[in-house]
Amino acid sequence: MKINELKDMFIAVADKIIQSEDMLTKIDLQIGDGDHGTGMALGFKNVKKELERRKIDYAEDVFKIIGMTLLDTMGGASGVLFGTVFISGITSRTPHTEIELQDFAEIFRKSLEALKKRGKAKCGDKTMVDAFEPAVFALEESVEKKLSLKEGTANAAAAAESGMENTKKYRAKFGRAKYFGDNAIGLQDAGATSIWLIFQEIADWVN
Ligand code: ADP
Ligand code: MG
Ligand code: MG
Repeated sequence: MKINELKDMFIAVADKIIQSEDMLTKIDLQIGDGDHGTGMALGFKNVKKELERRKIDYAEDVFKIIGMTLLDTMGGASGVLFGTVFISGITSRTPHTEIELQDFAEIFRKSLEALKKRGKAKCGDKTMVDAFEPAVFALEESVEKKLSLKEGTANAAAAAESGMENTKKYRAKFGRAKYFGDNAIGLQDAGATSIWLIFQEIADWVN
């Protein structure tokens, strides 16, 4: 995938998040404070603006612009967490002018580790990690099987979706949802839903 395609893909991801504001608000209202949709939509409106405006030479620039913009504009705990997801996967030592399935797998693996280190959540805690970790595993497994970018991103989206569905089974260990105890069971996590939306749009765009 060329850099311009990567940029266009994340602009499509931004549109998807912006269109999903109401859905994310409703989910976060059930076991949170209802600000997740507004925060994500605001962050990704700015991401879209910055991706369209800024000079982009390398794949790393795309991830950095997204991460920095989310950190600067989303606010709150999840702004830091989503910023971490996009910033922590990249290093400037080996800038990419093209990006393939293996690069996505490597970038998002580093992001996942950084997210878990910062947020301290693991799978089963009813957070975005529940959708993100299986998506990263699916990318890595697809690389091992030498699958195409289309197949790999589709696998990641499916894994994120079932991880998001799994959050319904858990009690929450973090955020406001924690205070809901058993009442959180049956309800889906907002951040995991956002992670699924991101991977689903990546897969839809590639396919
Ligand atoms: P806030 O909780 O500050 O209102 P949001 O509503 O935007 O922020 O985001 C809530 C989401 O953040 C949750 O649904 C969950 O997925 C994610 N989250 C919260 N705490 C953590 C954590 N420690 N690690 C990973 N993800 C977390
Ligand atoms: Mg919230
Ligand atoms: Mg809040």
